Amino acid sequence: MNAHQAIFDQLGFAYDSDNIYYQTITSVLNATDVVGMEDSLELILAQPKNEVMVHFPVKMDDGHYELFKGYRVQHNNVLGPYKGGIRYHHDVGLDHIKALAVLMTMKCALVRLPYGGAKGGVKVDPRALSREELTRLTRRFTSAISNVIGPDYDIPAPDVGTNAQTMAWMADTYMNLNEPKQRRGGLGVVTGKPMEFGGSLGRSKATGQGVVFVLEELLPELDLNCADLSFSLIGYGNVGSWTGKLLCERGAKLKAVLDHTGAIANEDGLNAVALDEHVAQQGGVAGFSGGEHITDDQFYESSVDLLIPAALEQMIGPNIANQVQCQVIVEAANAPVTPAGDRVLTERGITVLPAILCNCGGVTVSYFEWKQNRQAETWDLEVVDRLLKKYLIMAARRVRLAAQRYNCDLRTAAYCVALDYIRQVYEYRGIFP
Ligand code: NAD
Repeated sequence: MNAHQAIFDQLGFAYDSDNIYYQTITSVLNATDVVGMEDSLELILAQPKNEVMVHFPVKMDDGHYELFKGYRVQHNNVLGPYKGGIRYHHDVGLDHIKALAVLMTMKCALVRLPYGGAKGGVKVDPRALSREELTRLTRRFTSAISNVIGPDYDIPAPDVGTNAQTMAWMADTYMNLNEPKQRRGGLGVVTGKPMEFGGSLGRSKATGQGVVFVLEELLPELDLNCADLSFSLIGYGNVGSWTGKLLCERGAKLKAVLDHTGAIANEDGLNAVALDEHVAQQGGVAGFSGGEHITDDQFYESSVDLLIPAALEQMIGPNIANQVQCQVIVEAANAPVTPAGDRVLTERGITVLPAILCNCGGVTVSYFEWKQNRQAETWDLEVVDRLLKKYLIMAARRVRLAAQRYNCDLRTAAYCVALDYIRQVYEYRGIFP
């Protein structure tokens, strides 16, 4: 029986311990207990404010039409406009998107960004579509959700399966749907755009850069140093490749990488830049000449200081948590460790650095991009990096202090920081009417 069953009963949730939304909201509610949050706020946060589901047709290259399912879930906007990525993946579903939207609310509150949390996506395998099909799908999806997004209301960004080009198509579609005289203001409707079209310097590397800033702040107390550690990565997309390249620049050794095409390893260290070029050409790490192919089991059993999941959710359950040979798990991906996996890691004395802290660099630089769009400015990379570092160091310190204050693990501590802040804002604002 879940400790929060009364809330779940009231909301009509069916018990399912494998369901990612159930898992995510349970972790958040564990923290609401720690901070002693009022029942009314627990209830509000336990469900998103809005869940939008759309079905839209797209003409494929051979002339036939396919119907796609898309989502935009807006969890909470007490701190400001909704903010969160758009995912293109064949496994996208409502509960998945709801869970990711909750994490965005927590992340923005932890970093003190003036945003609430949202997430969206389309159930599609983007690798199976041509560029023209992806353009039409993105434009039609944007038009389908255009009445629930906007630069002052809900601001999407890239996530798994989407990138700066996707954001450019979204912004252009949204701007064209607006009155001509208001078009320019529409630029801030999405972040993570290409530099040439309203993007920010430092946005593409921001999530990986944030991971590294957080590690530099927190690793010394675990007797680890970025200049002298070994690590492995699950996923070598935007977040994984930037984390890999930036950690290697600091002297760390990348020993193994696993992605959807297979796993590779090199005891002397993989060349992160060459691997990035290989993935850009081949679509995955398989076949990289600078390492040898290994099995998934060999990957998880490789001995490293840090294992950094930077791919999908729920990848580290209890079995893999028992297999891994590392001192620290750095959650660069969202929710990569299940609650059951978490329990095994705790028993084994493996520290988990939580996602809402580790990967908040992306939304932080998205905020800088949005500010630049509003002010019609372009900031230097040095300014972006300096501010990002400041925001992330402050967030990491808040989490460390909360862990001491509440005598809890770092995941619960990160949620406590976010929830304390959200509660204060609710206290000032009240619950309408
Ligand atoms: P991406 O699409 O660029 O890369 C995803 C990676 O996951 C790819 O390397 C892919 O091969 C790998 N992958 C997919 N299925 C896999 C499987 N079954 N086994 C192993 N690897 C698999 O996505 P991304 O933008 O790098 O996002 C990665 C994670 O980081 C997600 O959880 C995302 O929500 C989170 N995140 C991303 C950002 C951002 O700015 N892009 C910000 C915050 C959090």
